[in-house]
Amino acid sequence: MTEQVTRATFDEVMVPSYAPAAIIPVRGEGSRVWDQEGKEYIDFAGGIAVTALGHSHPTLVDTMREQAGKLWHLSNVMTNEPALRLAKKLTEKTFADRVFFANSGAEANEAAFKLARRYAFDHYGPEKNEIISFYQSFHGRTLFTVSVGGQPKYREGFEPAPGGIKHCEYNNIEQLKSLISDKTCAVVMEPIQGEGGVIPANKEFAKEVRELCDQYNALLVFDEVQSGVGRTGTLYAYEQTGVTPDVLTSAKALGNGFPVAAMMATENVAKSLAFGTHGSTYGGNPMACSIAEAVIDIIDTNEVLSGVNRRHEVFVEALTAINEKHHIFKDIRGMGLLIGAEVTDALAGHAKDFLAHAAEEGLFVLVAGPNVLRFTPSLVIPEADIKEGFERFERAVVKTLADIKA
Ligand SMILES: *Cc1c(COP(=O)(O)O)cnc(C)c1O
Repeated sequence: MTEQVTRATFDEVMVPSYAPAAIIPVRGEGSRVWDQEGKEYIDFAGGIAVTALGHSHPTLVDTMREQAGKLWHLSNVMTNEPALRLAKKLTEKTFADRVFFANSGAEANEAAFKLARRYAFDHYGPEKNEIISFYQSFHGRTLFTVSVGGQPKYREGFEPAPGGIKHCEYNNIEQLKSLISDKTCAVVMEPIQGEGGVIPANKEFAKEVRELCDQYNALLVFDEVQSGVGRTGTLYAYEQTGVTPDVLTSAKALGNGFPVAAMMATENVAKSLAFGTHGSTYGGNPMACSIAEAVIDIIDTNEVLSGVNRRHEVFVEALTAINEKHHIFKDIRGMGLLIGAEVTDALAGHAKDFLAHAAEEGLFVLVAGPNVLRFTPSLVIPEADIKEGFERFERAVVKTLADIKA
């Protein structure tokens, strides 16, 4: 018999590193989710920018079932067809020539940072080992990735952290010029910062970062764990920044919720992860890769990608309309369906207050830091769901404002 579990069970048996919502969702279909009580929600979060094709997408369910009946796992002592097909697709569709598979964004970044160090070591010697990344950036929760990440709170109490890492203000090229040197092996950036508050890199900045990397023989690593796989309206956001990185990491939407990640690199750079230098037990397993292949096939179509841009407009219009009535945002920004709405100074620190009321009204939304509401719905969310979602959101706004005033 299945044991009855409730939200209270979490507090009894789980490590308290999360503070999950009061509800427990049990089923999802498209952009709708139902909880244990049968209450229905519209999903403007998609996990955290993960379920880009919504919940229980029929093609993905079929793909998973089919692969589950064939082969789950082999180890990397052998390769497998889904991994080879997915790698072929990713290299055909991007700047990259080579792929390494992992299971999470942090692991893909770990591989990227190790590759950057190793490439510099191979070509320029051990002194060239510094990594520069940006304040507010997020690259995952392993010790290396929280160290490269630009939010000190994530490494507090876990020191000693890996060394040789510097942080620079995002979109501040003068500061980067003062930090970069012949000792720099890589500059790591999100083309649009996600967790840091939904902040796009400006084009001129991205171009100059690329030039500085070239000047100092440093690799440019793009963390597209959040921005990738159609989220911004192109398969990867770098296509819109006008610069091409040397290394790119992808996860989140790549498996639509099934754990899979990829680190991609140019031929010359990839050579430095020579036989025996890096590995992963699960990385590149046939289950994950077959699902990711189906995800890429569906998303990398004109229909889905142009739909992202159309939905972007719908979201911005709806947020603008609500803002005209309730004056809660000072900025609405983002790319594609990675949208941030920054609350006014009067509401500073209150972004998360909107979440609980939204859930009460039957809507999932996210925050990105204390002042930004974040919207990362499915890329194929029906427009009717968007409309209804914003009706619920407006009711949540009214309740939240009443609460704050009280
Ligand atoms: C979510 C995220 C990560 C971490 O991915 P995990 O799968 O949680 O390890 C890394 N970088 C960015 C930009 C992210 O948004």
